[in-house]
Amino acid sequence: MMPTISQVYLDGKFLPPEQARVSVFDRGFIFGDGVYEVIPVFGGRLFRLPHHLARLDASLAAIRLRNPHTTEEWKTIFTRLMAEHGTSDQSIYLQITRGVAPRDHAFPPYPVPTVFAYAQPLKYPPAEQLTQGVTAVTTTDIRWQRCDIKAIALLANALLRQQAIEQGAVEAILVRDGVVTEGAASNIFVVKNGRLITPPKGPFILPGITRDLVVEIARTKGVPCDELPVKIETLSSADEVWLTSSTKEILPITRIDGRPVGTGKPGSMHARMFALYKEYKQAFIQGKVE
Ligand code: PMP
Repeated sequence: MMPTISQVYLDGKFLPPEQARVSVFDRGFIFGDGVYEVIPVFGGRLFRLPHHLARLDASLAAIRLRNPHTTEEWKTIFTRLMAEHGTSDQSIYLQITRGVAPRDHAFPPYPVPTVFAYAQPLKYPPAEQLTQGVTAVTTTDIRWQRCDIKAIALLANALLRQQAIEQGAVEAILVRDGVVTEGAASNIFVVKNGRLITPPKGPFILPGITRDLVVEIARTKGVPCDELPVKIETLSSADEVWLTSSTKEILPITRIDGRPVGTGKPGSMHARMFALYKEYKQAFIQGKVE
């Protein structure tokens, strides 16, 4: 089912979704040649906007496209899209492609990017996923070598997530050369002997905004946290494993490949970090933090 949204932004215009049209020769459609962002909105405020726009700039620079809008222009677009859903929690989706051109792998000399965005109410994970945790499976990371780019070409991620779903799991934990990279659409944290460990940033993971926030909160509050490679064996001996993303926040993974993680229940470190995360979010909604 399509979300109920009455307007989207496309190339300078606000339109009902059924009137928004993109050319079949758009390079996003033909090659998956574009990048995207998902920005949560809490209490009517764009959460971690500077971080999302910085990651967008990094993705655009990596694919050699210029940012078509200034921060102020983006804010104006988002604010107009958000108005439809009032103060309810929502997420902004935006994507920029290299635009319309005759089909040729090489870039068009003067690309005119296609810019698309919409807002929709945020769908939180069901409550029992937080209280019971979720199931994950490990699988080979079949993606390319620039997973740090938030590219719209998500075929590998879609195949991997589907594989997890068909095995009754919520997420696929991806493994490259014996080392955990991330989830199909999330970052991964491990808790071992009271320390948080998350894989370091680099070309094989998306620099998650939620990941960075969890690391930042941990450091601020004195929770030991390392950004280090996580071997697949570490998963089996971990006390806790979590996934993080803007829409799933911090979710405990309590079964991996059919075996319980730690006690098989969400752990005390998750309870602590999630409480600190919610405290930060509340302070943000109240305008006490940016
Ligand atoms: N890794 C991948 C592959 C993702 O698609 C996502 C976002 N869905 C994340 C990590 C988490 O990033 P963020 O916290 O910025 O949502």
